[in-house]
Amino acid sequence: MLQINVFFVTSYSHFLYIWFVVYFKVKIKTIWESTLHLVYPNVCFGCYQPLLLSEPYRICSSCLTQIEKTYFHQKPFPNDMEAKLLGFSFLKRATALFYFDKKGALQNIIHSLKYENKPFLGVHLGMFLAHQLKNDRFFENIDYIVPVPMHPQKERTRGYNQAMMIVKGIQRVVSIPYSSDILVKVEHTLTQTRKNKLQRLISLSSKSIFTSLDPQKIRDKSILLVDDIITTGSTLIKCMEILEQYGCKACKIVTVGMAR
Ligand SMILES: [Zn+2]
Repeated sequence: MLQINVFFVTSYSHFLYIWFVVYFKVKIKTIWESTLHLVYPNVCFGCYQPLLLSEPYRICSSCLTQIEKTYFHQKPFPNDMEAKLLGFSFLKRATALFYFDKKGALQNIIHSLKYENKPFLGVHLGMFLAHQLKNDRFFENIDYIVPVPMHPQKERTRGYNQAMMIVKGIQRVVSIPYSSDILVKVEHTLTQTRKNKLQRLISLSSKSIFTSLDPQKIRDKSILLVDDIITTGSTLIKCMEILEQYGCKACKIVTVGMAR
């Protein structure tokens, strides 16, 4: 009997000890993070103002509400984005979350995502985008989410494909599988930002730069194509040509922004 009592007392003391250790570790971590946040606040990548601890996307609530949204997916077909992509009967819907204006907050965010080694911004944008579109059933009946691919050499230099980061953010919210083999880029081109619009169209129309490593995932499937920004639409058209070639049943497109 005494042995049993000793056993319970010891177990209870152990339990209390572990509970206190965990509790104080959590408390100390919270206090430490709050103090650190006061000294080195995270700043919004859109407007560079300090973020509140309650703002989870590394983009402040003010930017997320003030950057103008397109609501294209709620407008009749063809909306302004779909009008750039006409000619594909399997294109069901295309939408961009925001309008992309030069020198706007979204340009700062996209610049950090692409050129300042901030892949997590893509994940945050993808999650935000997915939460915005989910209630409008935009992701219904999608078999695979596919990022617009980068050439492997460029991806190695950058360290990641920003469209894939956005895909990963969307996937966290909607739990649809994604694939980076469905579309791949096979030839290096000059960075698009260093070319004017005409050069971009010529270089894209003269060479077949996209292909598929896994066409079985295209045939009779519904694909969601994802990119960061749509400008002329020529890159997305090239991707859709590959999807069409391999018998894609239905395609939707979503980007974070559309240039205007
Ligand atoms: Zn901001």
